[in-house]
Amino acid sequence: MTLATAHGVVLDGVRGVVVRVEVAVSDGLPSVGVVGLPDASVTEARWRARCAVEASGRSWPNRRVTVSLSPAEVRKHGAGLDLPIAVGILVAASALPAGSLESTIFVGELGLDGRLRPSRGLLAAILAARRAGFTRVVVPDEGACEADVVPGITVVRAVDLSQVCRILEGVDPGCGAVRSEVRTDGRGSGERDGGEGGHAHAVSEIGDLSDVRGHALPRWALEVAAAGGHHLAMVGPPGIGKTLLASRLPGLLPDLSDDSALDVAAIHSVAGRRRPPDAFTEPPLSAPHHSASAPAILGSVSGGRAVPGAVTLAHRGVLFLDEAPEFCRPALEGLRQPLESGLLTLHRTGWNGTLPARFQLVIAANPCPCGQRTGSGTGCSCAPAAVRRYASRLSGPLLDRVDIRLAVDRPHPAELESTDLPESSAVVQDRVRSARARMAHRYEGLPWQLTSEVPTGDLRRRWPPGPDGAEVLRDFERRSPNLRGVDRVLRMAWTLADLRAAPAPGRDDVAGALALRGAHLGWS
Ligand SMILES: [Zn+2]
Repeated sequence: MTLATAHGVVLDGVRGVVVRVEVAVSDGLPSVGVVGLPDASVTEARWRARCAVEASGRSWPNRRVTVSLSPAEVRKHGAGLDLPIAVGILVAASALPAGSLESTIFVGELGLDGRLRPSRGLLAAILAARRAGFTRVVVPDEGACEADVVPGITVVRAVDLSQVCRILEGVDPGCGAVRSEVRTDGRGSGERDGGEGGHAHAVSEIGDLSDVRGHALPRWALEVAAAGGHHLAMVGPPGIGKTLLASRLPGLLPDLSDDSALDVAAIHSVAGRRRPPDAFTEPPLSAPHHSASAPAILGSVSGGRAVPGAVTLAHRGVLFLDEAPEFCRPALEGLRQPLESGLLTLHRTGWNGTLPARFQLVIAANPCPCGQRTGSGTGCSCAPAAVRRYASRLSGPLLDRVDIRLAVDRPHPAELESTDLPESSAVVQDRVRSARARMAHRYEGLPWQLTSEVPTGDLRRRWPPGPDGAEVLRDFERRSPNLRGVDRVLRMAWTLADLRAAPAPGRDDVAGALALRGAHLGWS
């Protein structure tokens, strides 16, 4: 009996899990058996592997072949293990050099003609390989460009099994050249470096704040939201720029760290999307339409695989729900768990597990079903009961987590005529970064980085406002004995203090926080 071991990757949710593929070729009637919790598509790999091996001009062992996949408890699905199974069999049959599979992960589906096809989640597979200490990964040439962003592992591309064999024999370097050791992050043009502003975001996808004229209060609210990580709600009539404003928030957030950026890109790769290389470290914006189903928002399971929903695609970025009361109730209710824990649990036939979903929520809503209930309210034809019903669709537990609630109205004509160029995202992003640095310093050694993450009890006890700030807060508490409301004001006041580099919230910070809490919207 001869043995060989190859390694591949299967997806578990949005993470890759390295699978050990052991192959034994022994005497006996010619047969191929696969053991170790394979699903039908993995079991079929033996037929695809056989055709591909023969198409590559290599000989198939006419003996008993046993393929064992481990860890045994991980469910193996999809055709992504075709390639490691095929090369494992070739080595076990002594058709390829022993030892050629070491430190290498193989990813890819095989066509009957031996051609390699990309499988979904390539980036997640490469990250799993790197985490597990592998130094080389062989991937299908087709669709391999997304692999170029991972440092610390050599990615070798091949078009078919025949080329993989030549690579393992050391006679072919692989196509597309062996990758560089440093990440190519598309900053070569220098476009993203905003001079003194440091790393400005690429403006292509998300748009710049300098495109937004007027709207002084909402612009400021976006800055506060970005600095403190506060969730934000905007209420106003249709067509006045709520979407434009919300789409600017990711551009005000600090760039993702390299590791976070790779995690985010891996999630998008599992969902079959590729993040634009020039905006690779930009926090993502996920903006589903209000007609989207609950599975589209929260995620689903199809064919034994988790399909990330909008909340997971917003991981480490922004989830924007325009016309939020129009979303179906199960989708809105389902947001509570990720808002609380940053995770989304799916229990479905075929797959159980959690997906990452730590996002900043921005919701926009019309003031009433017809949208015209602003200012004096003339022009609104809605019955009071209909207005109440509309507002109540954003349930208390959901709105409870939204610190900033803002009425957005048409900009004043004078604001629109002004020739001053509004501040750019890069300038605001700089202030956000400084404020976040102050928070990180204050919470050093504690499990929080942003004020929005600090439990309110701790905030009240350990970080009270300054004396004159406390006075304004006490006055507010007397008039509005809702403790949760008071806590929200204190949270925002700290962010305002951090934005102006003050040691503790003063009178103006508390007053500013009161202005952002949206009491007049009647949402509490
Ligand atoms: Zn109305």
